[in-house]
Amino acid sequence: MDYKKAINKIVAQRNSRLSEARLLYLELLRADPELYETEKAIRGMTMDKIKGKDIDESALAALNAKKSEILKRSGVTKEMLDPPYNCKKCRDTGLVDGKPCSCVIKSCVSDGMTANATFENSDLSVFPSKERERIGKIYEIAKAFCEKFPSTNKLNLIFMGGCGSGKTYLASCIANAVSAKGYGVIMLSSFVFVNRMLKYHTSFDDEKLGYIEPLLDCDLLILDDLGSENIFKNVTVEYLFHVVNERMNSGKHTIFTTNLDDDMIRNRYGERTHSRIFGSRLGTGFALSDTDLRK
Ligand SMILES: [Zn+2]
Repeated sequence: MDYKKAINKIVAQRNSRLSEARLLYLELLRADPELYETEKAIRGMTMDKIKGKDIDESALAALNAKKSEILKRSGVTKEMLDPPYNCKKCRDTGLVDGKPCSCVIKSCVSDGMTANATFENSDLSVFPSKERERIGKIYEIAKAFCEKFPSTNKLNLIFMGGCGSGKTYLASCIANAVSAKGYGVIMLSSFVFVNRMLKYHTSFDDEKLGYIEPLLDCDLLILDDLGSENIFKNVTVEYLFHVVNERMNSGKHTIFTTNLDDDMIRNRYGERTHSRIFGSRLGTGFALSDTDLRK
């Protein structure tokens, strides 16, 4: 999905929630004569006030209190009549200062975040006792990264470890924590990433930018399971470098999880990408447990 479509969708969703709320209120007015009369009186006085007439403010306040009382009695909450915004940042307009809001950027990519992965829910006791202290420290660093985000010491983090080492879980914890602070986070597997890049590379329509733009624009990009993707000539290595490089140049954060070690990354993606991901003082790698923790 491109930005335009994503913005239209957000605005349409907002409008439909407002329409639902309006319909609900009309139903209530129809079903409850007392509410109808109260509302009529409130509107009458409000109109008078707008026209500049002197009105009895305490009478108006009493009517409003009565209205609240009636609604409360009918089990109608404030949220039902005045639905809160899904995104407070852009108030469901999709734009902040004329630019796509982080909610738009995020909604362009169906991502692989695990919703219940949080630092609070993490249980370090699943790690073998000899590993626990070291991994606990990595979790602390990850937590600090989220707390300081976006003013972190390092732009990039790399979590290395075998299947079941918990690297995807840890990355999801970070994704949820940074996202909860109101930043646009996209987490996707490198398999999905490369397929998007392939679509971008091979399509010629107006919407092709929709495949790459959100990945460049989001505040935090998490590429999960680097190494699991296919190597397509002129695509995989080139776009991985392009995206990582662009993001670093604009001071944006990227996190990788991977089964590969340092040398394997160098061999697979080449020196240039390796040094962009690893060789820089802007990134740190952490080796998680290699033991498969899954039962
Ligand atoms: Zn928004």
